[in-house]
Amino acid sequence: MAASTPTGEPLPYLEITDEDYGRRAASEFTVDEVRSDTLILRGPCPRCRASLEIPVVTTIVHRGFFGRRLRRVEPPQPADQVEPMMCMCEDDHPNRPDRRYGCGAYWTVIIPARPS
Ligand SMILES: [Zn+2]
Ligand SMILES: [Zn+2]
Repeated sequence: MAASTPTGEPLPYLEITDEDYGRRAASEFTVDEVRSDTLILRGPCPRCRASLEIPVVTTIVHRGFFGRRLRRVEPPQPADQVEPMMCMCEDDHPNRPDRRYGCGAYWTVIIPARPS
């Protein structure tokens, strides 16, 4: 499923970010915890709408999960984690440099220190 502009042309590769990308990603991405320190963020690229799966290693100790890991000590002031993300789709985007993936869009999301 290649993303396209309203005129049907494929979106050209463009390294670009937009405040809105982060906002849309924050509302559309789902978060799966695959390990205590690894999350998989899944959702559509805010620019080209390709579905993405982005693994993120968290520095955050989650509370509220039934963990058997007693070795972790209380972190001092857990802080929100700012996670830079970029589109990694394999769709066709004209002008993309060799060996690159994605449409060029990048953005950041905040992974909250505590599950809400
Ligand atoms: Zn994209
Ligand atoms: Zn794409």
